[in-house]
Amino acid sequence: MLPVVALVGRPNVGKSTLFNRLTRTRDALVADFPGLTRDRKYGQANYDGFQFIVIDTAGVHGDEEGIDAEMASQSLRAIDEADVVLFMVDARDGITVADNAIAEYLRKMSKKSYVVANKIDGIDANAAQADFFELGLGDVYGIAAAHGRGVEQLLEKAFTPLLETYPDIRVELAEPVPLVDEDGNVVVDEAGETIYVDPNQDLAHDEIDYSTLPLKLAIVGRPNVGKSTLINRILGEERVVVYDMPGTTRDSVYIPMERDERQYILIDTAGVRRRGKIDETIEKFSVIKTLQAIEDANVVIAVIDAREVVSDQDLNLIGFALNAGRSIVIAVNKWDGLSHDHREEIKRELDRRLGFVDFARLHFISALHGSGVGNLFESVQEAFASATQRVSTAKLTRILEMAVDEHQPPLVSGRRVKLKYAHAGGYNPPRIIIHGNQVERLPGSYQRYLTNYFRKTLGIMGTPIKVEFRESV
Ligand code: GDP
Ligand code: GDP
Repeated sequence: MLPVVALVGRPNVGKSTLFNRLTRTRDALVADFPGLTRDRKYGQANYDGFQFIVIDTAGVHGDEEGIDAEMASQSLRAIDEADVVLFMVDARDGITVADNAIAEYLRKMSKKSYVVANKIDGIDANAAQADFFELGLGDVYGIAAAHGRGVEQLLEKAFTPLLETYPDIRVELAEPVPLVDEDGNVVVDEAGETIYVDPNQDLAHDEIDYSTLPLKLAIVGRPNVGKSTLINRILGEERVVVYDMPGTTRDSVYIPMERDERQYILIDTAGVRRRGKIDETIEKFSVIKTLQAIEDANVVIAVIDAREVVSDQDLNLIGFALNAGRSIVIAVNKWDGLSHDHREEIKRELDRRLGFVDFARLHFISALHGSGVGNLFESVQEAFASATQRVSTAKLTRILEMAVDEHQPPLVSGRRVKLKYAHAGGYNPPRIIIHGNQVERLPGSYQRYLTNYFRKTLGIMGTPIKVEFRESV
């Protein structure tokens, strides 16, 4: 589980700028759900060794009469979902009416809030910060979101109290270590130099035996696509022990189950098992819940409603899962009772819109009647096996040589980019590291060719793979 941070403040104080900075390395992760969340934007942040989910709220204008309504409609949910609120103000403007209104609101809520005075670049930061103590929310943290100044210190401060609850928040940054082969020998390059790899990612999971671990399977999708029906169908066919996890509405329900002698933990984002316990007025669907479930899963079943056009929200969810490196199986639900022509039309539409995830298996199912549900699990197994298979340096290097033989890298300024060898960089998702000379000059098209070649040759289905290039010395 990752902690959730909400950015609130009036317009123009720099919330989007900070949001973009925090999510920079994985900006494609931004899941924008128009219609569902109004003006909130969700992203996964990976900044200075911290990982967390960040919510950017639209600005609160603070015209006095409207403030409560506006807070309610825009930022309340975000604040409610968050562990920490970063209340942003503009260091150059001093306290405004809107700032005061927001501060008063935050003081009433028992949510940990930090006042962040942005845009301290080029001004007297201390004086500017001092002004904002009057907001009555404690220390004021000066930052320049546009340049990154002060951001690390702010996160350090805001996250230290959360470390115990969220041990995953901190990504340890360790020194590179020498790469060793299957026999434990240090691998060297052509010039006899030791190859170093990043232990934070490279082979970090080498010691894990995935075959004995329960497979965490998240069922995600927009409201009403049939997630609850699917989960009930899956559980109805199996003997399960269901237990309720205490927690807030943003928590999914984790259901252990066994199927074909394999242990699973079903991550239920629809929360059906809690029936009777949840407040009826609480939205069944929560973006945070969905993002957390994806983060926590090994494999994601993305459920799409065959009777609705594929929406941007569907694509966003799938995109989020892929960027998070999760294996994915797509279930097109409500396939029952459709005419042949209608089905063909839907298939064409899916082909057109799901091109970016063409390595994921597509299943046409009816959760209501149970058709196709069993086959889903074959693809889940296949995706997980693909994501965790071990491949030796020798084999990867052989595949690289085959790929290069079949199709040489292009000449760059009269010289050919030289690709020397490949090794595994990690699993789940698979990462392949290719060493060579002038690799930064490899065109994107050739990088894609190599990625596809590895995918085909290794028979990797249902999981994104990452091919990275390193300059050898
Ligand atoms: P939002 O409406 O709160 O999301 O604010 P934006 O992120 O859109 O920023 C509003 C304006 O402030 C933009 O013109 C930004 O370029 C500017 N801005 C944001 N952060 C900084 C900063 O650290 N220093 C300065 N000087 N300008 C900033
Ligand atoms: P959730 O919000 O994603 O959990 O969706 P539900 O499982 O609550 O289903 C929403 C609606 O779609 C309900 O009325 C279900 O009966 C219906 N539904 C779910 N699966 C199917 C299906 O396979 N076929 C048909 N025709 N309706 C379905």
